[in-house]
Amino acid sequence: MANRNKHLNPNQVYEPARCWVGDTHKIIYDTQEEAELAAKVAAYDHNLGTSLKVYKCPYANHYHLASE
Ligand SMILES: [Zn+2]
Repeated sequence: MANRNKHLNPNQVYEPARCWVGDTHKIIYDTQEEAELAAKVAAYDHNLGTSLKVYKCPYANHYHLASE
């Protein structure tokens, strides 16, 4: 372990708070409460009769909203 050949990759982009789920670039919510609040706000803003579903991301430890 004495000869560490590690350096920073300049092409490595700092990941924004979003992730790809299928073809969709989803906003990440750290907690279920945060996601539920965002769902309520979105339903109100767009005058939706139904609210968006909150689900846990299958790839990481955070939450997303589903539009159906
Ligand atoms: Zn995710």
